[in-house]
Amino acid sequence: MTLRRRLSAVFVVALLAVAGLATGAAPAVASNLEGGHWAHDGLAHSQIYFVDHTGAFWPVTSATYKWNEARGVDSYYVTRCPSSRLHCTDVYEFNDPSQTFYGETFLPLTDGNGHFRWNAAVYLNDATVHNSTQARKTTCQELGHVLGLDHQYTNTTCMMQGDAIALHISVTPNAHDFDMLHGLYAHAN
Ligand SMILES: [Zn+2]
Ligand SMILES: [Zn+2]
Repeated sequence: MTLRRRLSAVFVVALLAVAGLATGAAPAVASNLEGGHWAHDGLAHSQIYFVDHTGAFWPVTSATYKWNEARGVDSYYVTRCPSSRLHCTDVYEFNDPSQTFYGETFLPLTDGNGHFRWNAAVYLNDATVHNSTQARKTTCQELGHVLGLDHQYTNTTCMMQGDAIALHISVTPNAHDFDMLHGLYAHAN
C-alpha cells in the first residue's frame, strides 16, 4: 500500500491506494483488515453506496450484491450518488497500458475512531483485465477494499492478488472475509 495523491483535485485529504497488482506475494496473515471502516451515522448498519460508472464488462452489480451478504454493513448498487453523498464510492473503468494493476482503490484517511473521513473511489483497468473471470475477481476485490478488507493469501477468496485463471482464484469472498467484516462493523457507531 502506498500513499497517493492522484485524486487531490477531488479529495481534500490524502488517499490510501490499494492496487491490485499483477504480481506480488506476502506472508500469510490472520487478519485481513485495512484498519478503517465506515461509520454507522446513527443507522443500525453502516451503509455504502457503490456508484457504477462502468460498462457491462465490469460486474459491479453482482459484486455489490455478494458483499451485501456481509452482516452489519449494507452495500447498495446505484448509478447516481444519493444527494447526501454519504458513503458514496465512485467506481470507474479506465484504460492505461502503463499501469500494471488490475484495479486500484483510493481510501480516505480515518478519524480517531477509525472511520473513513470522506468517500472512496475505485478504478478498474481495461488495459490489464481481458476476461470475465478476472473482471469478476478484480471487482470483488476492490469493493472488498472499500468495505475495509485487505488482501488474503489463499485462492479461496477474491481478496487474493494475481491472475484469477492461472492461480485459480475465487471470484467471490470467503467465510473469513465475511467474518472479518462482521467483527469490524459489530458496534454501535
Ligand atoms: Zn487488492
Ligand atoms: Zn465505527
